[in-house]
Amino acid sequence: MQAVYSDRYQIDLGLHVFPTAKYRLIAERLSQRPDITFVEPEPATWAQLALVHTAEYLAKMRDGTLGETELEQLELPWSVGMVDGFRLMVGGTIQTALLATGLEVTSLTSKIREDGSALRLATSNVGVVCHVGGGLHHAFPNHGEGFCPFNDVAVAARVLQDRGLERIAVVDLDVHHGNGTAFIFESDPRVFTLSLHQQHNYPLWKPRSTLDVGLPDGAHDATYLRELERALPQVMAHRPQCVFFLAGADPYEDDQLGGLRLTRDGLRRRDRMVIETVRAAGVPLVVTLAGGYARRLEDTVAIHLATIEEASVSN
Ligand SMILES: [Zn+2]
Repeated sequence: MQAVYSDRYQIDLGLHVFPTAKYRLIAERLSQRPDITFVEPEPATWAQLALVHTAEYLAKMRDGTLGETELEQLELPWSVGMVDGFRLMVGGTIQTALLATGLEVTSLTSKIREDGSALRLATSNVGVVCHVGGGLHHAFPNHGEGFCPFNDVAVAARVLQDRGLERIAVVDLDVHHGNGTAFIFESDPRVFTLSLHQQHNYPLWKPRSTLDVGLPDGAHDATYLRELERALPQVMAHRPQCVFFLAGADPYEDDQLGGLRLTRDGLRRRDRMVIETVRAAGVPLVVTLAGGYARRLEDTVAIHLATIEEASVSN
């Protein structure tokens, strides 16, 4: 399986609850697996970012002229490195989406394609590609929020629309509501947005997704999986040509910013349910990591690794 990743995702944010080291730690573990091929992304261009974000906001991000309130809302310190790192991460989600949908192949894959017999092996897992990054669902067109400067999934969805895809779905299972994504696609019937989240948590204002499932505080595996099982058929009824999965690790019971009580096993079953459903329908799947703030960083890393493991098996 292909995994899109860059070492430059480890962005220096000073003392911060957002552990950008998780990307590197996950990649280190994945590099021991011979079945994973890493793909280095290119940064999203400013023109690609402008498919979603306003020119005014992008200029402020680029020039470092965000106001105090805007920085408080973004909850990240501005620096050239921060902007570059996240622009690269948006490029990573675009790249993942292009690979999953077969709109772009890596040079490695195209080399293998010259040999027909190797092709079958190499493409046995085409359709599911993981991004060891992404899921920045709190970013709006005109401002960033909650550690999300740019909305990578929304930008990648717009890129796919430009390439001719008519129906796209977003399955957002981060513990926090996907407010930016919901807002961006609120009046675009071509994109089905599902957000399954803790109702009484950030963000306070939750623009309407196509389907919102707000869970009560402390919901356990059984409740969560039952709701997911009910929601997924509605997503697939949209007949998406590509599904973006935000596999947030923060519904975990020991997360510092989440108030649900999912176990690691429950999260793995969640991932399996999404991946198997999308795969059974023969639809390309773009996996992004989204949030994860467990008290112990190794738990966050293990949860994300389990997601990638689920995506790379049972083909
Ligand atoms: Zn989150």
